[in-house]
Amino acid sequence: MSRRPRREEIQENVNLCEYCSAKCCRYFALPIDTPKEPRDYDHMRWFLLHEHATVFVEEGEWFLLVHTDCNFLRKDNLCGIYEVRPNICRKYTTAKCEYEDHWVYEKYFETSEQVSEYAEVVLGSQGRQKSLRTAKPLTP
Ligand code: SF4
Ligand code: SF4
Repeated sequence: MSRRPRREEIQENVNLCEYCSAKCCRYFALPIDTPKEPRDYDHMRWFLLHEHATVFVEEGEWFLLVHTDCNFLRKDNLCGIYEVRPNICRKYTTAKCEYEDHWVYEKYFETSEQVSEYAEVVLGSQGRQKSLRTAKPLTP
């Protein structure tokens, strides 16, 4: 199996995207307020109860990250609506993209339990969450 070339190995006149699996078209991320109070962490727990949702912190900024492919990403990893793609896609360039990123962040939360544990460490007993378990099993 051939390895993907490193960024610096690709000639200047060749588009980096040709060697990429369209990493930037497979998620969206939105900035969120830095959590301060128990209810902020409770909101984060709610985010992470949803499939493919995560939260990361980079340079002190908190983001909601949802791993989901764009509906217009083609099977060949090219944009299916290139001529009318949104501005955010137009402005994104290969100069600072995540071609070689490994999704490593200052902080990364994938489950609501991780958020609960973090809140408890940061806020002490104030951040302690009630158990996710119900008093009785839920019946369909
Ligand atoms: S801009 Fe970067 S991350 Fe996006 S498809 Fe091109 S090389 Fe991949
Ligand atoms: S609109 Fe095109 S460029 Fe933008 S995320 Fe979707 S596939 Fe990627």
